[in-house]
Parts: sequence; C-alpha cells; structure tokens
Amino acid sequence: MTTTTPAYVDVAFPTSVETPLTYRVPEEWREFATPGKRVLVPLGRRPVTGYLVGTREHPPVSSTKDLQEILDAEPLLDAHLLELTRWVADYYLCPWGEVIRTALPPGIDSLTRQVVRVTSAGAAAMDGGGFLRTGEREFLAFLRARGEAPLAALSRRWRRARALAHGLARRGLAEVGDEVRPPRIRPMTVPHCALSPGVDPETAPLPRRATRQRAILRALAAAGTGLPRSEAAAGSPAALAALILQGLVQVREVEVTRDPFAHPEGLVPSDLPLHLTAAQAEGVALVQTALAERRFLPVLLYGVTGSGKTEVYLQAIQNALDQARQALVLVPEIALTPLTVRRFLARFGGRVAVLHSGLRGGERYDAWRRVRRGEADIVVGARSAVFAPLPRLGIVVVDEEHDPSYKQEEVPRYHGRDVAIMRAKLLGAPVILGSATPSLESFERTQAGRYRLVRLAQRIEARPLPRVEVVDLRRIGGRDRLLSPPLVEALTGCLARGEQALLFLNRRGFSTLLLCEECGAAAGCPHCSISLTYHAGQGRLRCHTCDFERRPPERCQACQGSRLRYLGFGTQQLEVAVRERFPRARVARMDRDAAGTWREVTRVLEALEGGAIDILVGTQMIGKGHDVPNVTLVGVISADMALHLPDFRAGEHAFALLTQVVGRAGRGDRPGRALIQTFNPDHYILRAVQAQDYAALWEAEGELRRDQGLPPFTRAVLAVLSSPEAAAAERAAAELARLLRAHGVRPDALSGPAPVPVYRVRGRYRWQLLVRGPDAGGLHARVREAERAFRASPMARGVRLDLDVDPVRLC
Ligand SMILES: [Zn+2]
Ligand SMILES: [Zn+2]
Repeated sequence: MTTTTPAYVDVAFPTSVETPLTYRVPEEWREFATPGKRVLVPLGRRPVTGYLVGTREHPPVSSTKDLQEILDAEPLLDAHLLELTRWVADYYLCPWGEVIRTALPPGIDSLTRQVVRVTSAGAAAMDGGGFLRTGEREFLAFLRARGEAPLAALSRRWRRARALAHGLARRGLAEVGDEVRPPRIRPMTVPHCALSPGVDPETAPLPRRATRQRAILRALAAAGTGLPRSEAAAGSPAALAALILQGLVQVREVEVTRDPFAHPEGLVPSDLPLHLTAAQAEGVALVQTALAERRFLPVLLYGVTGSGKTEVYLQAIQNALDQARQALVLVPEIALTPLTVRRFLARFGGRVAVLHSGLRGGERYDAWRRVRRGEADIVVGARSAVFAPLPRLGIVVVDEEHDPSYKQEEVPRYHGRDVAIMRAKLLGAPVILGSATPSLESFERTQAGRYRLVRLAQRIEARPLPRVEVVDLRRIGGRDRLLSPPLVEALTGCLARGEQALLFLNRRGFSTLLLCEECGAAAGCPHCSISLTYHAGQGRLRCHTCDFERRPPERCQACQGSRLRYLGFGTQQLEVAVRERFPRARVARMDRDAAGTWREVTRVLEALEGGAIDILVGTQMIGKGHDVPNVTLVGVISADMALHLPDFRAGEHAFALLTQVVGRAGRGDRPGRALIQTFNPDHYILRAVQAQDYAALWEAEGELRRDQGLPPFTRAVLAVLSSPEAAAAERAAAELARLLRAHGVRPDALSGPAPVPVYRVRGRYRWQLLVRGPDAGGLHARVREAERAFRASPMARGVRLDLDVDPVRLC
C-alpha cells in the first residue's frame, strides 16, 4: 500500500453550519492536511477558520472550493478526541465544530481581517495626476505612507472607507485582501542567551580590558543551555549587547509557562497514602484490575459524607501512574472544592495540572499545552476539562457525580459526567463516579448491572453522621420564622462552645418581593415574568434571570398606590438578622453577590477554616466539598422552595442539596447537628434527608419516575421554543408537537406543549415540550427528523428552537 496524501478534506465549523463541508486541497498543502488541525477556508464570501475533521479521495459533490491555508503545524486534537467530540455532537444534537471549539482553550482561533493597499497603478495615478475623486487622493496617500492598513481601522478614520476602498479596487488603483491575524493568545516567550557554537570563554578574541564581557562568557559556559537575557547580562546590558553584536553570544526566544498553581509548596508531594478501610480497599482493587486489563469499567463509589472517597481516587490514580498511565479528575467547581484540589496537589505535586475558569486566557492556554506535551500526568478540572488532551489517559474520576453543574446550560449542552464515561469507554479505561447522593441515573445503572457499586457506609474513624432535626414552622410565629427558637438555642450553644455554624438559604438578596398592599401587584422585571429582588447594599431591585436593575419605585406601577411592602427574605436579610441576634459573633456571607470570583470564595473558605468566622451564611455555595472540623452546626432556613420547584427532579435535587449541606457538620471529632426549618415536616424527601437514607429516596422517587415514564427509566429531550411574539412561540410549539408525533413519538411519551415555568425571559416568550423514549438512539433520531422538518416550516420563522438532550433542569 502506498501512502497517499488527501486530495479532499472535510471541515467542521464553530458556527451554526450544521455539518462539515468538503474542500479541495491544493498540491502544496497536501502533505500537511492532517485531521485535528485548524484550516482557513472560504465560507460564503469570507475566509473563516474551521477544523479539519476528515480526509477523502473523492468529493461528494462535483464543485468544491479550495482550502486556503493550514493554520497548525501539529494537530490540536488527536484521533481519540476527534472521535469523542464527534460522539458529543451526534448525541447532543449540535454541530461538531461547536463541540471542537469547546474542547480547545478559548481564544486560540485565528481571526481574519481585510487589509487595503495601494497598487502600482494607484501609485502612478497619484504621481502622474491621474483622475481621482474627492477624498481619494488623501485616502491613497494615507495608505501609501503605511504600506497597507486594516479596513476596520480605516473605517474609524473615514466614514466612507469601505466605499472608497472598493471603488478604488474596482478601478485597479487599490487592492482589498484578507489577512490572517495571529491568535490572540500565544505562548509567552523570553529571550535566552547562550554561547555561539565553538566559542571558548577563555580564548574568545576580546579586548584585554573587557573583563565584564569575559565574565558573561564564562557564566554562559557554566550554565550550559543558556540563561534568560536579563540574568545573562548580570547588570551589564551593554557588555552583553557587544557580545551579541560580535556573534559570540546567540539569542533565541524560549517559551515560559504561566501557571498560578506553580508555587513551590505545590510542587513537592507532602501527603502520604492513608491506610484504607476494607470498603475503600475493595474499590481500589476493583479499579486496579480493570486498569491492568485496559478494560472499560464504570464504578459508582457511593460513600456517605466524610467517608474517604478522595483517598480511593488518590490510590487508584497512583496505580495508574505506576503503569505509566495518566488520570483525569472532574470536580463540579474548582473554587468550591479547594480541599479536593489541595489534596491532589499535596499527594502528587507538580505532576498535577489544574484547569479552571479562574485562570486567565494565557494561563489556561499554557496549562492546556503543558498537558498536550505530556508534561502533566493528572488533570484536575471542572466540566470542560473532560476534553483535556491527555495522550496516555488510563483512569477517569468524576467527583460529586450528581452535581447539576456538570451539565452545560448553553450549546453544546453536554453533561461532563456522561462525556467522561464515554471517553473511558472509547479508551477501555475504568471510570469512578463518586457521590454521597448518587444521581438516580447512575444508581439505576448499578441496579441494572451496567455499573459496579462500591459502598462506603461509614464515616472514617467511625465518626457519626450528624443528627438531623426538623423544625415545624407551622407552629412558630411569623416574626421567628427566619431564626426559630430551636435554631437560636442551638446557635447559642454552638457559639458558647467556641464551635462554628453554617446557615443555608438558597435565595440571594434582601427581600424577594416588593408588593403593593393596595392592589396586590409585585414589582416585576420588564423583560421576564419574574419578580424583582431587593438588594440592600446598593438599594436596587434586580432581576435574577436577566440582571435588569432599577431603583425601587415610590409608587405601584399598576395602581399608583403608595403602600409598598418588602416581603420574603434572602441571604442579605438573614445576615442582618444573625448580626442583630448575635452581636458578638463574627458573621460572614457567601453567595454570588458577596463572593463572585473564585479568589473571593477561596478567601472566605480559608477564613472559615482558620476559625476567623463563627457563623457563615450562604447559598448552596457553602454546601460543597469543604471540610472544617470545628463546624458542628448546620441550619437550613427554609427547605420549602427546593421541595416545590416545578421540575420532576426537584425531589432528587433537594435531597442531594440538603444532604450535602447537612453533611458539612461534624467532620472532626465532635459530633454534628443539623436543623431544617420547613412548613412540610412530613414530606418524604425531608424524612429521607433526616434519616440520611438514600435507599428511601431511591424507593419513593424511583417508583414515581417509573410510573410516569421519566428518566432514569427512559431517555428525554427537552425542546424549548422562544420568540419575542407570544403567539408565534405557541404556534411553533404546537407544530413541533405535531411533527414529533408524525415521526413516531407516542402521545404518552410527549409532555406539553406548555409554557416554561418562567414564561418570559429577556423579552422572549417560551414554550416547552418534553419528549421521552425507551432508548437514546431511537429517541434522538426521531427528534432530529422532526427538528429538520420544523426548521423547513414557515412556522419556524422568528422562533428559536433549543434542544436539550438529557435535561437536568426544567426550570
Ligand atoms: Zn398597586
Ligand atoms: Zn429579567
């Protein structure tokens, strides 16, 4: 067989162009046309960047355009990642190019721009007094002085730049061309100096008095591979410059790495493996067998809070490293799980690369390249790290696998956990899914025999789980419902013993409603069907859906009445109430308003760990993986919101959220206690949380879902149709429902069309349909066909259709 170079290639686009297009490869590019590289190709009338995803001998259509340029010397994605991104595109019903763009670090795409230059005819016209219209001479003179100029920059100077440039181009006096702008994010380099080949520092021909130059040569000889320029100069830049001028010293650019985690204490492993319990050892052994056999094995590690799941991950990964394999570890949010990240750094030091959104563009690009070059053996990161370019990946870990933040809520709407499982499957590798509150999806698969289940039923060192009490708010007067007497009493005791407490309330702001007492209207967002939340700090009303904000009105918008009242409470009001009730306690708040960046979150969590906070008030941000031994009390201010969301997963999510929050108590040697305030003390979810009984949740919730034909017993796709015109969205939803039925969706497998619970968002009216089916393949195929037919229909005009495969949140 002879190796042939491809004559045609398929190119995917990071835009709405749904399927890859075929281009002819000019001779001179053929040997470089390898899949996984970025290319520049004409699309419509403009050259755009696309991804080369396949090669072919013959074109599928007779007329193909030519590829213009290949932008990468080496592929950015290997065959495995191309296959994975392709699967994501097919499964989640989205363009392949969008998935590839998500898989690559942001900002590396080249941009193209149009540049204008003077032709020789143009120059002759200027010099020879040829005919030029008003403004043209000045325009050409400006261009000639600069050689060429970008059209965008010219447009800022001349309002008619585009017309001028194209008018001159038509007459051959100027030229408009495309230029590829270098990527915005490039490797950072510093100049390095080294001796030129054959130079001996002792015999180099230097003037006798040039002692500084001689010293520089000696230092460079001693350094071997060279020194950064500033260091080589050793305070005498002039002497170094003289050596460079004489050719005795060479300068070259050397790449440096920007990495905020590369501080010295992070590089030296300081943590040793712990002794494993029998249950932990079982998990490690199971994974080790699969590793040795290079076999796909999904393991659900179901361990109660504080049962030592992380130690299982660490030792399983050590086994993979011992076999020269690499590891990928997904965590829900880096900022909220500093403890997990720190344990990886402590155990494996500089072999770990941390990928997260707190990194600046350049830092993220550096970390990505370090991984691609094989310089890091373990990648720890949030959702998008699932695409990390690890060439020898041998084990995958998904911590807190139930966490809804693994689902991306914009296109491509992939689920990080499920992509991680597919990645392990394609590679033939074990994957550990860890959780104290497994998703019903994962648990169902252990029951069906598709995943192995490993249970860690006890906390390490046999520490007891916190005692959970339910406070019945129906028996408590209105004024005390924020901080009920039993909660105040528990807080008083906690503070008296010098211990710490967490208070959880899943609503930001001060008051959640500004209500008119005359007509009953609430101040709402003008763009969304949702009421505005009052934020006390800035004295503003704010929409939590679209971020619209305004000053509170003096009079009711509906009736002009003046008796306006603030109702409902958020974390700001809770913080104020706690400070009033416990004036000597050190109180802090953690929510998106008080700690918006990962650096701020880290600061608050460090203050909590260091004992500088007595009571921490916050949203679900306080419920994630930190582990402060002195926290012995957790108070849930109101469990009711979470129980009553119009979403079939509300119960499951409430159980997970409350169990995780409650589980923050008693992680040290003192027992923990939790109080949950509610108007529904007998709700089955609260009973399950109180008993910390996952089996009870599985039984109750599982039965409901099976009866109603909902996931995990079926697969689902959520279709949302939205339009600025209410009637158009409603009509389109009815049409899509009709098309789905026409393509074989049974009526009982279709819920809706119905208005989305928050009906209007950012000025768009929204309708939804939930489509279900027994298997993903058949369901997705039907939805895809109905979608194609819908997009071709006149009803689709002015309507946006979003498809969400395996939706995690319905509201
Ligand atoms: Zn009113
Ligand atoms: Zn809004």
